[in-house]
Amino acid sequence: EDCGKEQCQGKGYKEHFHCLDCSYRVILRKEEMIRHFKWHKKRDDSLQHGFLRFSPIDDCSNKFASCTHNGKQTHYHCIQPQCSKVYISTSDVQMHANYHRKDSAIIQEGFQRFRATEDCGTQSCPFYSQRTTHFHCRREGCSFTFKNKADMEKHKTYHQKDEMLAKDGFKKFMKYEHCSYPECRYSKISNHIHCIREGCDYVLHSTGQLFSHKRKHERRDFE
Ligand SMILES: [Zn+2]
Ligand SMILES: [Zn+2]
Ligand SMILES: [Zn+2]
Ligand SMILES: [Zn+2]
Ligand SMILES: [Zn+2]
Ligand SMILES: [Zn+2]
Ligand SMILES: [Zn+2]
Ligand SMILES: [Zn+2]
Repeated sequence: EDCGKEQCQGKGYKEHFHCLDCSYRVILRKEEMIRHFKWHKKRDDSLQHGFLRFSPIDDCSNKFASCTHNGKQTHYHCIQPQCSKVYISTSDVQMHANYHRKDSAIIQEGFQRFRATEDCGTQSCPFYSQRTTHFHCRREGCSFTFKNKADMEKHKTYHQKDEMLAKDGFKKFMKYEHCSYPECRYSKISNHIHCIREGCDYVLHSTGQLFSHKRKHERRDFE
């Protein structure tokens, strides 16, 4: 039969199949086609969990050079960046997929988890050399790191308050922070709040003063 494809011309194929997912690879027997179809289905299933499945007849060596399972048994490579895990049991695959799911839930919250075996790449991080599980805040301009997962909620609240303050035209700095206002006497000395309106160098020490200061600006804008 002539399928009209250049690659098949003159080869004398009778009935044959082309796999559209494998750049029109030729498959000569129907049973083989079914087997190949199943192979694709299994690979797609593994991709749903974030893994690439290799059966003993597949070669993983161009993607995973040092794999010891290559050509020996069905195995699964994790495809998450920076992760080189390989599993041969599907229950391990499930467990590991779960582990990445948890990580992405943490990222949704604006944080990143680093495990003892992972390098957080931040030398200023107090846990950098300790090689222990810890978390980084991923928000811009924030370098907060912590060990205790319970601090996550607290720190989220901190950012929420920060956003609310910013809406009102203020920014709070904690005692341990450098506020980057050149003439400020309170930087790294005490908790304080700066008015961030242009041309105003007002510093507050409690949120109680916020409202009256804001009103002052509003009145001024009004005049
Ligand atoms: Zn053909
Ligand atoms: Zn195929
Ligand atoms: Zn492999
Ligand atoms: Zn992984
Ligand atoms: Zn770190
Ligand atoms: Zn933060
Ligand atoms: Zn300051
Ligand atoms: Zn002000």
